[in-house]
Amino acid sequence: MTDRIYLDHNATSPLRPEARAAMTAALADTGNASSIHAEGRAARARIEAAREAVAGLVGAEPAAVTFTSGATEAVALALSPEMELSGRPVRCDVLLISGVEHPAVRAGGRFPAERIEILPVDREGVVDLAMLDTILTRHRNGGRRALVSVMAANNETGVIEPLREIGARVHAAEGVFHTDAVQIAGRYPFGLEISGADLISITSHKLGGPQGIGALIARDADTRLPPLLRGGGQERGARAGTENVAAIAGFGAVAASAGMMLAEEVGRLAGLRDRLEDGLQDIATEVVILSESALRIPNTTCFAVPGVAAEVAVIAFDLEGVALSAGSACSSGKVGSSTTLAAMKIEPELAQGAMRVSLGWNSTKADVARFLEIFARIYASLTERSRIQAA
Ligand code: PLP
Repeated sequence: MTDRIYLDHNATSPLRPEARAAMTAALADTGNASSIHAEGRAARARIEAAREAVAGLVGAEPAAVTFTSGATEAVALALSPEMELSGRPVRCDVLLISGVEHPAVRAGGRFPAERIEILPVDREGVVDLAMLDTILTRHRNGGRRALVSVMAANNETGVIEPLREIGARVHAAEGVFHTDAVQIAGRYPFGLEISGADLISITSHKLGGPQGIGALIARDADTRLPPLLRGGGQERGARAGTENVAAIAGFGAVAASAGMMLAEEVGRLAGLRDRLEDGLQDIATEVVILSESALRIPNTTCFAVPGVAAEVAVIAFDLEGVALSAGSACSSGKVGSSTTLAAMKIEPELAQGAMRVSLGWNSTKADVARFLEIFARIYASLTERSRIQAA
């Protein structure tokens, strides 16, 4: 598979060498981080070093980081009607989520379905702030506190939500604000302060770290959620079970390097993305870049060619050695209709042609050039085929 071009970093990113090195070193050691002997203390030291790096990525206190099995679990932990917020017990009566959330958030955590309400988005996929005001006011007037969960950047379109504005509104209504920051952390300037969030969920594998490890990060160490897993009291009682030291070490390694390389990578990836989008539009003038005029993370392009079915095109790309995704295949690998594009009211004929290219740490100019060359060939053959079928 050496000649393949991997353009699906929003699904998962190839393992970075520094993660592999940190994991290999951790796997060579024996030791349960709860043990007090030297081996146990060495495992504990690796975990605490990683906790510091992950906290640093979003400007948090290390003690406010809880390691989980990934963002899905972090979100499930965060979306709880009961919590202690900065040491004060808080009860949320309703959960408000945007219409473009990942299924991990749409599942609603510990809120029953009848207490979950969807916040509308505009055609670019940006949360409608006026509607947010109206809905928050309605709940406040009815004596209901809201937990609001809006993602930082969308996995399909890359659109960045106005988190600061959302956070300010949620706090003015005495609500609690969680953000799924899986696609933004380490890819674009982001953190507790920039977002105003009380709770942040992230995952390692979108950054080039191992799969199966993520974190819930709170605004301070006195913010605590009722645990999903009870037992040995690990993670300060927030998540029982012997820690996966190697995965945590790999996560820490990529959190540190992503933070260090952020400014450089934002510019480099934006350059590649612009080149890719210009190239697409030069080859096929009818290409639609979804959410093109919204603020987006610099690695993501969601595009559609009217009349070309995404699942057919993605298979054609795969056969030519290019890995990319159709619509919202992010979580399941299935090609199905995209709830994100439906929430944006993108016409079904266009949505069924939506493809996502997502770049990352190992993407190069040569990858983009080869992708465009292959796109030109596939475009010519698929549009020719649909012309013949229509005739
Ligand atoms: N949220 C978003 C926006 C995602 O893209 C993903 C990845 O699939 C998740 C949550 C789930 O993350 P994890 O795979 O770590 O459970």
